[in-house]
Amino acid sequence: MEFPEATFTPYNNKTISRAPQWERIPEDLREAVNVVSQVLPFRTNQYVLDELIDWDRIPDDPIFRLNFPHRAMLEDADYAALREALAAGDQGRIALQVRKLREQMNPHPAGQQTHNVPELDGEEVPGIQHKYGETVLFFPKAGQTCHAYCTFCFRWPQFVGDDELAFAAKDAQGLTSYLRRHHEVTDVLITGGDPLIMRTHTLARYIEPLLAPEFAHIQNIRIGTKSVAYWPQRFVTDRDADDLMRLFERVLAAGKHLALMGHYNHPAEIRPDIAQTALRRIIATGANVRLQSPVLQHINDDPAAWRELWTTGVRLGAIPYYMFVERDTGARSYFELPLVRAYEIFRAAYQSVSGLSRTVRGPSMSAFPGKVLIDGTPTIRGEKVFALQLLQGRHADWTRRPFYAAYDPNATWFDQLTPAFGEQKFFFQNELPLPADEARELAVVA
Ligand SMILES: *Cc1c(COP(=O)(O)O)cnc(C)c1O
Ligand code: SF4
Repeated sequence: MEFPEATFTPYNNKTISRAPQWERIPEDLREAVNVVSQVLPFRTNQYVLDELIDWDRIPDDPIFRLNFPHRAMLEDADYAALREALAAGDQGRIALQVRKLREQMNPHPAGQQTHNVPELDGEEVPGIQHKYGETVLFFPKAGQTCHAYCTFCFRWPQFVGDDELAFAAKDAQGLTSYLRRHHEVTDVLITGGDPLIMRTHTLARYIEPLLAPEFAHIQNIRIGTKSVAYWPQRFVTDRDADDLMRLFERVLAAGKHLALMGHYNHPAEIRPDIAQTALRRIIATGANVRLQSPVLQHINDDPAAWRELWTTGVRLGAIPYYMFVERDTGARSYFELPLVRAYEIFRAAYQSVSGLSRTVRGPSMSAFPGKVLIDGTPTIRGEKVFALQLLQGRHADWTRRPFYAAYDPNATWFDQLTPAFGEQKFFFQNELPLPADEARELAVVA
């Protein structure tokens, strides 16, 4: 199929009124966009507006919810106060309100909570996180934004400049020095923001050094990206789309595996012809695409949505990978679901698809001991519990040891769970006292 070349047209809260669809948004929703986007960053683009949002279904349309700030993302009183300050045009008061609300939503000092920077010869290596032995996360500086912003995203402090991005890497030097010393690392996961916001020649500066013979221990290069959903033109009609495909082929030719970790939140994102063509083109280079997303109220809290996403993905050659439980985000209460509900959605979707889609794992929480999988809610000797295990453990030996938490129908996150059967601690809490900052650290959902 041929696609015309398209111009990428982003919108923020100052320019969205120029979008042809703005007319279709009722006045109260426009006001909410204006008020909430003072606090939480807003960005969408013309492709999302034209192809992904069903305007007959707003405001409940899942992609509208995914991109447009909603009134309920702030507390009623906070919303009212900010709206008033805006109406009065009182810049000082607006700034004060915004700062206060952002601090409430992101109480940790900049960078620390999202990033555990490793050291090399006593120096911090910027742009790297190394939590699980075999996989290093890498944050290139030029890849710390996205083609549109997801309203649930916990990375918003870096989009609004609260995190100084001090942790992101300007070049591949720190990464290559680190990997030279760490032969246990087999996987490099390039993440963001969205690394594919970068032009191909910029991305190549980070990837090509890894193709040298001295990095034979790096077997897999992964790129975490939402471009497959928000701007599939990146792989099809952008001026350097073909160059990107050639770059992917060079990774394969160097004997490595390349996986695009495709962030799809809803099947609407995989329905357009161009999105399907993008997938096919990526896979034709020899790369894999793996599908992952958090499960979110108002967006994809429906087994049918997951079934369609996984089965369409598999038909096109992609591999279902993770269903996450969303952790702390700016507007967490708006999106969060009880863990038991997340599990029910997972199970209902999983049982309705063929084995080819059952490569997916979840629901999984990226918490301080590792990726905690909810495996069910059995009743064991009269006590209803959560059956849990770690898919990734901070210590490798913690992985896949079954453990149990007391059943709590309202719990929405791991820190609300307590050990079952009257025990005082989960098994990993016996093993070593974690330093306070490590215990507090919130893992990055890659
Ligand atoms: C999820 C994650 C990874 C990758 O884990 P896989 O199970 O190999 O996909 C690596 N590092 C961190 C910090 C993660 O959260
Ligand atoms: S980093 Fe991912 S989840 Fe966050 S706004 Fe960008 S695309 Fe959305």
